[in-house]
Amino acid sequence: MALDLEVIREETRACDRLIHFNNAGSSLMPAPVSDALHEYLDHEEQYGGYETAELLSDRLENFYKASAKLLNCSPDEIAFAENATRAWDMIFYSLPLKAGDRILTCEAEYGSNVIAYLHRAESCGAEIVFIPDDENGAVDLKALEAAIDDSTALITMSHIPTGGGLVNPAAEVGKIAKKHKVPFLLDACQSVGQLPLDVEDIGCDFLTGTGRKYLRGPRGTGLLYIRRDWIDKLNPVLLDQHAATLTSRTAYTLRGDAKRFENWEKNFAGMAALGVAIDYALSLDLNSIRDRIYFLADLLRTRIKQDIPGATLTDLGLEKCGIVTFTVAGHDVDEIKTALRKEQINVSRSQGSGSLISFEARGLKKVVRASVHYYNTEDEIEAFVATLKKLTA
Ligand SMILES: *Cc1c(COP(=O)(O)O)cnc(C)c1O
Repeated sequence: MALDLEVIREETRACDRLIHFNNAGSSLMPAPVSDALHEYLDHEEQYGGYETAELLSDRLENFYKASAKLLNCSPDEIAFAENATRAWDMIFYSLPLKAGDRILTCEAEYGSNVIAYLHRAESCGAEIVFIPDDENGAVDLKALEAAIDDSTALITMSHIPTGGGLVNPAAEVGKIAKKHKVPFLLDACQSVGQLPLDVEDIGCDFLTGTGRKYLRGPRGTGLLYIRRDWIDKLNPVLLDQHAATLTSRTAYTLRGDAKRFENWEKNFAGMAALGVAIDYALSLDLNSIRDRIYFLADLLRTRIKQDIPGATLTDLGLEKCGIVTFTVAGHDVDEIKTALRKEQINVSRSQGSGSLISFEARGLKKVVRASVHYYNTEDEIEAFVATLKKLTA
């Protein structure tokens, strides 16, 4: 399906005065999403928060339906969370782990996740195993399979890292996980909304994503998928009276759906708007979205290589996504980011915790991250490269 760029850009209201290449940080909401968010908040002001939740209950319910359609699962396998990290934490900290259990992850793993592995390793004696990269920089599937033994309790990794264009072969990892009956937790934070994700094709047991990145939803929103047969097996690390029901002085019962991982109080306006953002992505078609993002990112990499003296591209992997990272010799990354910002061009920089394991191994400290979305254009890429060239001349 061809994307109607004219309509899409009309609905991306900052497009005419901003080149936004920070979609991996926080994307621009399309008008229907932003309008839904404001409308919901207006309702709360006019009718009251609880009353609005009743009046607009189908908009809240739509979040679950839209997420289920997006991921090819059932609405009762979906939970809302305030961000991807908490969604992920709810699964990771709920999984039983004991001394000697091994957690298999990848070099590109997200910093917060690694902190959680270390945190639990400290408290229960589990071990973390970083599976090496293959020759292209993706997780090495042979090494992954070879690392599995009786003590392997979990395979857990980022589909796309925060600090580079790499796309890990999630479905191949899923096949290995299934073959060896090891649970598989996929951090799909950067891939949800950027490429088609089907939990059956991927074969993951749990998947987490955020609203504000490639899904173009509001900040402070996230989602969790948990496979049906895991819901009853997994006792959430935290409970409240939404996740469970108090039945007497001494007893409670747990919900039977994924909402046992939710909070009672949440960002209702954000949840309604995230449902709209997911519908918006679905209406454009995730295959078309991915194809255009990959095309634009490829073009950006080519143009940087051609036109910017001293530039080094730092994206790994054979399959590369919309995240384009680079350094320019003799120029500080923050200086580049700030200078671009003055020209109405948004990028971010990746450094520190987020990609520490991978960056340390590769001798990288910080990189410029220019992350494109389908609503960006070839003209914007030309303008970006021309400005970058001028700033780094
Ligand atoms: C951004 C990011 C996260 C965290 O998402 P939040 O919504 O900020 O909690 C997790 N993993 C990866 C790979 C990310 O890029």
